[in-house]
Amino acid sequence: MIKFLDLKLVNKNHEVELKRAFEGFLNSGHYILGEQVSKFENEFSSYCGTKYCIGVSSGLDALQLIFEGYKEMGLLSIGDEVLVPANTYIASILAINNTGLKPVLIEPCSKTYNIDMSKIKASINTKTKAVLGVHLYGQLYDVKELERISRKYNLLLVEDAAQAHGAVYSDGRFAGNLSNAAAFSFYPTKNLGALGDAGAITTNNKALAEVIFKLRNYGRISTYKYDLKGSNCRLDELQAAFLRIKLKHLDFDNNKRREIAKYYLDNIDSDNVLLPFFENMNQHVFHIFVIRSKKRDQLKDYLYKNGVETLIHYPIAVHKQSAYKELMDYKLPVTEQLHKEILSLPLHSGLKEEEIFKISTLINSF
Ligand SMILES: *Cc1c(COP(=O)(O)O)cnc(C)c1O
Repeated sequence: MIKFLDLKLVNKNHEVELKRAFEGFLNSGHYILGEQVSKFENEFSSYCGTKYCIGVSSGLDALQLIFEGYKEMGLLSIGDEVLVPANTYIASILAINNTGLKPVLIEPCSKTYNIDMSKIKASINTKTKAVLGVHLYGQLYDVKELERISRKYNLLLVEDAAQAHGAVYSDGRFAGNLSNAAAFSFYPTKNLGALGDAGAITTNNKALAEVIFKLRNYGRISTYKYDLKGSNCRLDELQAAFLRIKLKHLDFDNNKRREIAKYYLDNIDSDNVLLPFFENMNQHVFHIFVIRSKKRDQLKDYLYKNGVETLIHYPIAVHKQSAYKELMDYKLPVTEQLHKEILSLPLHSGLKEEEIFKISTLINSF
């Protein structure tokens, strides 16, 4: 069976370095917010080109801390509306709900699967205070246009970069440096993946960074002195040590992903399948390679019977989930159609050439 993702294989590539990092961590005797966390924060902010990076415990926490931080600064209040693409991962929406804000779902563009810029304006009213852009599947949203809209309507622009570590916009800016504040996840399956839960916030805003540094650690300003009511969302010291190693390989891994994507794009040729659309390889890090088919379920079964595991990102849209009954009235034809047709092919740095060949050939013969 060709697995959708083989994390053991992916991390095996770094085995010696990871084991050495663990030894160093064990011997350091410093297990929370030690030098690995601060070194990783420095390295990741310079990678992204931002002034600040705050390491936190997950991507969801990163998103929530951005919204909490803006609430502390008086720039957002309970009940404010946040625009968000309807076809994103559940965490983007949940972060808005959990911080007392209201998610307003926007349809994606049927070509790029990212937020449809032409459908944003109709959802803006006096309560709209922010937009959460998501670089879905690893492809940057239309950066210039979302920046323009945010400026025009005075919205905070927040970036969910959990799927786009290392994607570069045409002006040279990296994902994480395309907004007022960005959230990253280092969940093990992400392009930059830890060996457990981890996340980060990147920003150029000093005041916001200072608030979030406090919020992630009980609101603490110094030993047993608290300025704010925070929580415990610290980046784990061991995961930071692992992430420092994986960060050095991120560009190499992303290029490997692009090569595999290019192979699929050049070799899959079937009337049953629509390939992903993108304008520029640098703006896409192919976190997930998503094809579309009217016969998606049959294609999925066919591939599985022939030894290829595929997944669906995501099978049920948020407004159809029982946890989000308040969103039930949304009519989102593009989102709903996409959820019926999308299929994610295996794509990771451990995939072999004969496997990519087999997958492409199978799809063409379906
Ligand atoms: C993975 C992911 C998150 C959440 O990250 P966790 O670390 O799992 O909390 C948020 N948004 C998007 C788009 C993601 O893919």
